[in-house]
Amino acid sequence: MNPPMSIEPVIIPRANHPISRSLVSPNALRVLYRLRDNGFIAYLVGGCVRDLLLGREPKDFDVATDATPNQIKRIFRNCRLVGRRFRLAHIHFTDEIIEVATFRALSPPEQGEGEPVADETGQRGGDEAERLRPPRHLVSDEGMVLRDNVFGTPGEDALRRDFTVNALAYCIADFSIIDYAGGMEDLQRGMIRTIGDPRVRFTEDPVRMLRAVRFAAVLGFAVEEETWQAMLDLAPAITRATAPRLYEEMLKLFLSGEGERAYQLLRQTGLFAHLFPGFEAWLGEETDGFPHARTGSALEWVDSQVGSGEPVSPPLLLALLFGGYLEEQSERFMGQGASPLDAVSAAVAAFLGEQAPLVAVPHRIGLAMREILALQQRLHRIPGKRPQAVLARASFAEAMAYLRCRCAMNGEDSPVLAWWERYARDSVMPPVEPCSAGGETKKPRRRRRRRGVRKAAPQ
Ligand code: ATP
Ligand code: MG
Repeated sequence: MNPPMSIEPVIIPRANHPISRSLVSPNALRVLYRLRDNGFIAYLVGGCVRDLLLGREPKDFDVATDATPNQIKRIFRNCRLVGRRFRLAHIHFTDEIIEVATFRALSPPEQGEGEPVADETGQRGGDEAERLRPPRHLVSDEGMVLRDNVFGTPGEDALRRDFTVNALAYCIADFSIIDYAGGMEDLQRGMIRTIGDPRVRFTEDPVRMLRAVRFAAVLGFAVEEETWQAMLDLAPAITRATAPRLYEEMLKLFLSGEGERAYQLLRQTGLFAHLFPGFEAWLGEETDGFPHARTGSALEWVDSQVGSGEPVSPPLLLALLFGGYLEEQSERFMGQGASPLDAVSAAVAAFLGEQAPLVAVPHRIGLAMREILALQQRLHRIPGKRPQAVLARASFAEAMAYLRCRCAMNGEDSPVLAWWERYARDSVMPPVEPCSAGGETKKPRRRRRRRGVRKAAPQ
């Protein structure tokens, strides 16, 4: 049996770092204190420690502990255990969920499967039955981690994380920062670096390459040289990640507020070409670089929206990203005799079909994206028939946002946009039904049809 790993962390005492409890969510503090008071180790971990140290507001607060999921469940009444790949505890509060994970091991234990994993002291018995139940670590033939549920020590838990800056922990026992991987230094230098050999880490989980791009873009960090080289070499492996996960990551990248920067990094590493090969080939056909610039400008517009707190929905994002490509495909279908509406539908269906094995866009998102694009044709007919009906369409606001972005990019559609904006503003709401004196609303009269008198069906 392997002895527990002995990893010496650097401890940064409270006096030497800026994280104050007043910056931490009160619910996260409650969870940390309760775990500590029950005799467990309790750390804030991951992105929130990184963001607090950078003076940024964390998206969420994650906790890591040596308590097992069942032990956590016993301590918190408001706890639900979730996840198959990673078994996690969710502690529910009125307006927040705090995620609590048990420290996980670096690699499968060499001893028999399910044998207890000792902690740093080798002492804590914990929930023996749970430790013996099959926490499994499963690796595919290509070295990809499929399941990772083996409990480990705090040090192992830190070193199995993706990047040094994501492996810092804030300890509630003495308010210190615990740094197992040199994360503090990389944070100060503005560097994204994998923990351990980047080739191994990206092979274990190719999505980490997209995460590297996201953190570099969002934090304005550089990617460390060896890590960057591994990304260039292993970019084709990104297609081994599951298509739904890649869709989720793509949304995070492009809706991060730094989507344009992320796009440049994706293209430089070659990741973009592997994720969107058809679209990339189309971009490559153009010699003047316009579609490429157009995608960048669309993402700049998305970034400005996100930056000013205006959410951009996934269908709108997709329509903006791939709109030029899809419009051109639609024209091709129209050239073959399809109606404008059928042509848009066919172009969108072909695109989603080609993307499905790589980046799986959910069906309803694809439909909503098609609606936004299809409505563009109608918006360009002013006033057209029944403009009020256009206004009532569920996708009107998104279609207008699409048009607004197009205007910001080339100004061509400005009169169309101005017309619809004015029309929407001036449109009167349907009058409210007048109330009778007694306060009862008048029931609409039902048309009565006499029995037996039916309109004859056409022969
Ligand atoms: P964000 O601010 O976007 O939420 P984050 O760093 O918190 O960034 P999460 O996806 O919330 O990112 O993950 C939380 C932590 O879990 C990370 O900081 C990292 O330590 C670890 N982690 C997440 N995904 C992976 C992965 N694929 N491989 C290794 N560690 C990971
Ligand atoms: Mg997070």
